[in-house]
Amino acid sequence: LDSEELREQAHVVVDFIADYYREVEKYPVRSQMEPNYLLNKLPENALDLPESLETILEDVKRYIIPGLTHWQSPNFFAYYPASSSTAGFLGEMLCTAFNVVGFSWITSPAATELEFVVTDWLGRMLSLPKSFSFSGTGGGVIHGSASEAVLCALTHSALEKAAGHLPGKPPVLLTSAASDFALSPGAFDTALVADVAAGLTPFFLCATVGTTSSAAVDPLEELGHVANKYRVWVHVDAAYAGNAGICPEFRHYLNGVELADSFSMSPHKWLLTYMDCCCTWVRDNGVVDYKDWQIALNRRFRAIRLWLVLRRHGAVRLQSHIRSDVALARRFEMLVLGDIRFEVVAKRMFSLVCFRLVSGGSELNATLLEAVNATGHAYMSHTVIGEVYVLRFVVGGAFTQERHVDEAWKLIQEEADALLI
Ligand code: PLP
Repeated sequence: LDSEELREQAHVVVDFIADYYREVEKYPVRSQMEPNYLLNKLPENALDLPESLETILEDVKRYIIPGLTHWQSPNFFAYYPASSSTAGFLGEMLCTAFNVVGFSWITSPAATELEFVVTDWLGRMLSLPKSFSFSGTGGGVIHGSASEAVLCALTHSALEKAAGHLPGKPPVLLTSAASDFALSPGAFDTALVADVAAGLTPFFLCATVGTTSSAAVDPLEELGHVANKYRVWVHVDAAYAGNAGICPEFRHYLNGVELADSFSMSPHKWLLTYMDCCCTWVRDNGVVDYKDWQIALNRRFRAIRLWLVLRRHGAVRLQSHIRSDVALARRFEMLVLGDIRFEVVAKRMFSLVCFRLVSGGSELNATLLEAVNATGHAYMSHTVIGEVYVLRFVVGGAFTQERHVDEAWKLIQEEADALLI
């Protein structure tokens, strides 16, 4: 690595990226490539001799960008967002540059201690109970994904039970009972009673604030009381919607988190903090080295990325980012409600609207979705709620403005016109 070569070439790449962002709107949102398109274009073997950066960037333009689904497009409304910002980008550069592997304190004291600091900061922005902080009995960690957070919490509680910390038979994972797209405390209680009567030991509940499908919110408080009766470990997965908890008006969705043992939310979904950054807090933390909080031994210096985001934006700008996305989703909901051919299927939650054509059932709605996505001008996804096929429209892109929402709705209406003739 030559520092002067890095300086020169990194500038070229930064220019390339800035141009990409400036022009991202003009690309078809969903990639229009067919399977194997790339395999047929690239050489079979790596070359023996080095190639120039210019040649490679030309190939990125020619071969890679067409094969991207542009998650940063202002017309991307699918799944949940992969949020970005200049601060997050710069933080990622620093993380990559230092390339430290902070699995224990001594392998990079700054990496460990900054992770203490940023998770405590964010925990306070979310008004998490003090017991989830390092100044309490717990603390936070940055995982790569919400799934990793669940697995770590599950493993921890399973081991605790298996090691005989609590009386009972071998641990068995509970199945969950759903009602109204959220977990019903009554059904949960009944399931626990049945499990115990069958000689099983329930030990883990994963409650969700903002489900992947419809952003439904499980009633944490009631579930927590039931779970605590049986000494069941409660993990709260708030990957997307937890981000909204930094706004006082959305904080009530996290009420009851004080009854949970662990809690996670992903700033990479909605808090301007590029992949990958899922913050997890635990209430009781006997662990010192971060390697013991995760699956892998090695770990990136993700804290520095979140640190830049929190410092460059401040709580106020992060809150207004969440609020403006929610306002755009509300605007979209109003547009849907104004067209009698459509219905909003589940209560709009946060920046997600679940809607469908009233007539025609799954098939027609799936056809409409494909028609919209095939244009390349907008991209949505779908889900099935209570056996009903619905379209999902999520606002969260860094470049998305009112006009993109309006244009997406106009496109949806035009495609509906064509289908309903
Ligand atoms: N949990 C919830 C509620 C989600 O919405 C998602 C993804 O959208 C996940 C977990 C999975 O996230 P990850 O890919 O970070 O594991």
